[in-house]
Amino acid sequence: MVLSRTASESDASVHSTFASRYVRASLPRFRMAENSIPKEAAYQIINDELMLDGNPRLNLASFVTTWMEPECDKLIMAAINKNYVDMDEYPVTTELQNRCVNMIAHLFNAPLGEEETAVGVGTVGSSEAIMLAGLAFKRKWQNKRRAEGKPFDKPNIVCWEKFARYFEVELKEVKLREGYYVMDPRKAVEMVDENTICVAAILGSTLNGEFEDVKLLNDLLVEKNKETGWDTPIHVDAASGGFIAPFLYPDLEWDFRLPLVKSINVSGHKYGLVYAGIGWVIWRNKEDLPDELIFHINYLGADQPTFTLNFSKGSSQVIAQYYQLIRLGFEGYQNVMENCRENATVLKEGLEKTGRFNIVSKDNGVPLVAFSLKDNSRHDEFEVSEYLRRFGWIVPAYTMPPDAQHITVLRVVVREDFSRTLAERLVMDIQKALHELDALPPKITAKVSVTTVEATPVNGGVVKKSVIETQREITTAWKKLVMARKTNGVC
Ligand SMILES: *Cc1c(COP(=O)(O)O)cnc(C)c1O
Repeated sequence: MVLSRTASESDASVHSTFASRYVRASLPRFRMAENSIPKEAAYQIINDELMLDGNPRLNLASFVTTWMEPECDKLIMAAINKNYVDMDEYPVTTELQNRCVNMIAHLFNAPLGEEETAVGVGTVGSSEAIMLAGLAFKRKWQNKRRAEGKPFDKPNIVCWEKFARYFEVELKEVKLREGYYVMDPRKAVEMVDENTICVAAILGSTLNGEFEDVKLLNDLLVEKNKETGWDTPIHVDAASGGFIAPFLYPDLEWDFRLPLVKSINVSGHKYGLVYAGIGWVIWRNKEDLPDELIFHINYLGADQPTFTLNFSKGSSQVIAQYYQLIRLGFEGYQNVMENCRENATVLKEGLEKTGRFNIVSKDNGVPLVAFSLKDNSRHDEFEVSEYLRRFGWIVPAYTMPPDAQHITVLRVVVREDFSRTLAERLVMDIQKALHELDALPPKITAKVSVTTVEATPVNGGVVKKSVIETQREITTAWKKLVMARKTNGVC
């Protein structure tokens, strides 16, 4: 959640036209009011203010599900008051989570023989899932080093900045380059040393949807492990790709079919087709999840092993995931993913036809279209994004991470509820936006008013700056503006 700051005493109030029927005074915005208000008023005030939020269905920035069937909405509302963690009170919900874990483990080709038992848990999303997987690797590596009598105070990990920072593991990052926006397995393997707890591969880059070559990573790492005697494992962050690859590219080997892949996370709330609040992490084998990380809760009833960063949470999302898995089946997921891919193609071809964009995404991968302007000397991608807001579309523009930060792209994520009609409509609106931008003066002059270069008044007058000076300042201000908008997390 956003880290909210507290405001000063002089803060404003919340006014509401409709609510004035019920309440005479305005409500303080940042302090709890002295008195209660009628429920109708509270509803109206909040409802009215929320109207200014964007329409989630037109939010093309997000991978997260914005539409489910009404039957599932009904199940979600019916379970809204169930705390997932009270497993003894709600044994059926627990059973549904177990079934989901099993179905997903099968989907990811976990070896489920006599000797091997995959384990897994439901999480709030991939982020929690990644933290759990990272912790398991860290602990496993520490235990092994300790047993060997070797130092275990300098763990590192290839990829995953957030985990590295939160759990004090050194981060080793593979730099990207222009035209190549996924981790190069060769470079990743070069970075591996005896302190590497794991290499995390991403199935479905958030930048351009591309799948990293997990098979090549596995093969290279097998070689390196053989040479060095280490056993550096792989985790696959399949937040978006985990529910795409099995249906669109069943022959692609990225999952537990590869021996070094020890754990995989997936977001149920992305292409798992459930509303925000559910993710999954599966371990190949119960040995891959050190015992000491498992907490046994039994004060609410029977003994239940848990591995989670938080305790209480809603049950609805688990139930909704189970609904989608049984409602759609393999066939249904495959249809949805194929439709998404086709709609992404319609959009991509429409954009190509304008002749104004380079397509940065690949045909294979997450159904999204990432594109950048061929010519951004007059206007850039941020301006296109801003113009599209006028039509209601939310299409983010962002700069790529190092060493490709000079590239800016626009990205449209194609979800189940983004129909072909909407894809065609979006192309038309992008054309309109370009047309309007073309009619404007180029951005350098257009932005003068925004970035207001203040001249110092001398003797009551205004100092005239040379053209070069002004241009330089404008360029600096413009760069600052772009850097300030740079987002790293575009999930
Ligand atoms: C979305 C995403 C995440 C974060 O997942 P949440 O489910 O939103 O917590 C992590 N990694 C990748 C590759 C993603 O696409």
